[in-house]
Amino acid sequence: MSVTTVDPGSLARLAEDLGDITHSSEPRLLRAKSRDRFAQSPILREVLRGKIADIYIAPGSKAELRTVVAACARHRIPITVRGGGTAQFGQGVPLSGGAVVDVTGVTGIVAQRLGTVRALCGTLVADIDAAIRPTGWELRMHPSTTRQATIGGYLAGGHAGIGSCHWGILRDRGNITAIEVMTVEEEPRLVELVGADVNTVHHAYGANGIITEVELPTAPAWTWQELVISFPDFASAARFSVEICRSEGVLKKLVSLHADPLPTYFPDLAGFVPPGHAMVLAMAAEQSMPDVEDLVRECGGSIGYRCDEGAGVYDCPLYEFTWGHSMMHYQRLDRAFIGLLAMFPADTLLESIMAVHTEFAAVGPMHLEMKRFEGGLSAQGSPVFVFESQEQVAEMTTRLQEAGLSIANTHTPTLRASGMKPWAEVESRFKRMTDPHGLLAQGKSDDEKEDDISASTALPNSGWSYRTATPS
Ligand SMILES: Cc1cc2nc3c(=O)[nH]c(=O)nc-3n(C[C@H](O)[C@H](O)[C@H](O)COP(=O)(O)OP(=O)(O)OC[C@H]3O[C@@H](n4cnc5c(N)ncnc54)[C@H](O)[C@@H]3O)c2cc1C
Repeated sequence: MSVTTVDPGSLARLAEDLGDITHSSEPRLLRAKSRDRFAQSPILREVLRGKIADIYIAPGSKAELRTVVAACARHRIPITVRGGGTAQFGQGVPLSGGAVVDVTGVTGIVAQRLGTVRALCGTLVADIDAAIRPTGWELRMHPSTTRQATIGGYLAGGHAGIGSCHWGILRDRGNITAIEVMTVEEEPRLVELVGADVNTVHHAYGANGIITEVELPTAPAWTWQELVISFPDFASAARFSVEICRSEGVLKKLVSLHADPLPTYFPDLAGFVPPGHAMVLAMAAEQSMPDVEDLVRECGGSIGYRCDEGAGVYDCPLYEFTWGHSMMHYQRLDRAFIGLLAMFPADTLLESIMAVHTEFAAVGPMHLEMKRFEGGLSAQGSPVFVFESQEQVAEMTTRLQEAGLSIANTHTPTLRASGMKPWAEVESRFKRMTDPHGLLAQGKSDDEKEDDISASTALPNSGWSYRTATPS
């Protein structure tokens, strides 16, 4: 079932204009390419049922992308850009039909300079690291989906990841050097954003410009060690997690905390963690290991497994058990498990983590990812609990906010209901310039007039607030 409002004649004329550029309206392909990983949310499984594009288009280069965009503008066809399709909040789902434009063919490194790398939007994040590692550099951060996600999709739909415990989140000043976007007009133009302006487009779900190239800062590529560390109780694991991140001299890129019994939900790792213990999954530079070992000992923990990055007996990089991947593993045990994207306050971090752990002990065990945010150290996560209803999720949201946490709603495909990205006049103005016909990511930005999806997926979350708002 399509939700399209698109005129069939316009679609036919669009297809004619595409010529040799790969496109299809085969129903099975359209269904597959109209989905991302929203099925992790029981709420989104219901809300996004039947939202399917009318045409799938896969340009093989930036020049072909320009032809596609010009044709869509001419025929007023809504556009949903698609990278790896790994977004979890349904932000890649075409809410009003139209074209899904798959940019995974628009790939390649454009330039590497000392301290930065520039790539085309469809390049896999892992491929960028693979290309620059021989020079001794790597990206400062990547999502746990780095092997499947595109760099454009990461900047348009993601926000943080492996590396964030040291460098902060993508939105933090200096973590995105430049973004080039293509406008959706009959004669598409390219616009380059630098400095704080990059945040106008970052995490906007592709609603105010098609990202064509990105330039990101790089960091030294150390010899990373993967560590599975156990602690007899959650308090010791939490203390270690906070202390290791506050030790600026220790080089690390991942600190992922899982309360008992969550370690048992990872069959590939459970053997390294004694029953009843809490687990920290970490990555640290080889030369920092003596300091890591000291702190593990001080906190009463034990390193159950250590190997070079990517060489684990579990047959995948360790980070594929962390961040968004953790829930994927928990849901293999029970598909009804969910969590909330809550941020703990930096000034009372450890106390706050312990207070929530104690108060919500009956709700579920805690999963946290340590990350820096606007210069402070924070943690994101929540108790992992069994979904019952949207009312229950709303109640949990309220309780966690009352406990001092900031919550983003990850069970909605709209920016308004999510609360993770500020959408102010600067974003609206930029959208009017880049997307004068209103074709991009329909239904997702705060500029929407009729917004049933926001209303039906809203939670009582007040969202994340940023000290540095986008300049107007
Ligand atoms: C198991 C799992 C783990 C995850 N871990 C993390 C994590 O650690 N950190 C994190 O931040 N996220 C994480 N995510 C979410 C997601 O993987 C990332 O956001 C990812 O980087 C998205 O990239 P993608 O290429 O798959 O984008 P897609 O899913 O294809 O698209 C994401 C959004 O961006 C838009 N978009 C895509 N390309 C462009 C473009 N070129 N221009 C404009 N708009 C565009 C899409 O329309 C959509 O709204 C995880 C998801 C899963 C399923």
